[in-house]
Amino acid sequence: MMSPAKPLPSSLASRYHGWKATSFQENKAWYARLAQGGQHPRTMIISCCDSRVHATSIFGADTGDFFIHRNIANLVPPYAPNEDYHGTSAAVEYAITALGVTNLIVMGHSLCGGVQGCHDMCSGKAPALEEATSFVGRWMDILRPTYDKVSKEGGSDKEQVSRMEREGILASIENLMTFPFISERVESEELALHAVILDISDGTLEQYEPAAEKFIAI
Ligand SMILES: [Zn+2]
Repeated sequence: MMSPAKPLPSSLASRYHGWKATSFQENKAWYARLAQGGQHPRTMIISCCDSRVHATSIFGADTGDFFIHRNIANLVPPYAPNEDYHGTSAAVEYAITALGVTNLIVMGHSLCGGVQGCHDMCSGKAPALEEATSFVGRWMDILRPTYDKVSKEGGSDKEQVSRMEREGILASIENLMTFPFISERVESEELALHAVILDISDGTLEQYEPAAEKFIAI
């Protein structure tokens, strides 16, 4: 059977040619060094798939700077070695044990459709997400405990979703600590975990400050 894969739309092909002729051409030596010497990123970022979260642009990052994993709502599941497919856990394992990154940033964002979906699902407004066949719904189960917490505290749906965005980042940090190769390195101070949230409307980046027990603008 012939593969259903098709050539790119011409608009994308011409944008690629633009990059090859300018940015790649101008930084040829840097690309060659990365190809020959391998990648040595010091930082891993876990962010949402949302097209408005542009981590490399926010930090002015160059090719080779960040090892990035994106998934719906920037979640990390708990350590669960079994025969399932674990894309996020595999990315984390490779970054830490093979590349030896020293900073791991979980970057959440405002107006996250994934977090909103989890709130809708947990509050009974999105029964389709409760189906066993919903990949998004089952992925969002990671975030379900944060709904239980924020809904008890009350407030409007909008406020609750906003708190869930922050609680979800902290839950992912806690889940990261259930991976033995992470907790060991955090304890020996070879690895630092960071929790940040981007306001996609005004560009504010907040980071979690443990002493204050809250996210504070950088
Ligand atoms: Zn999102």
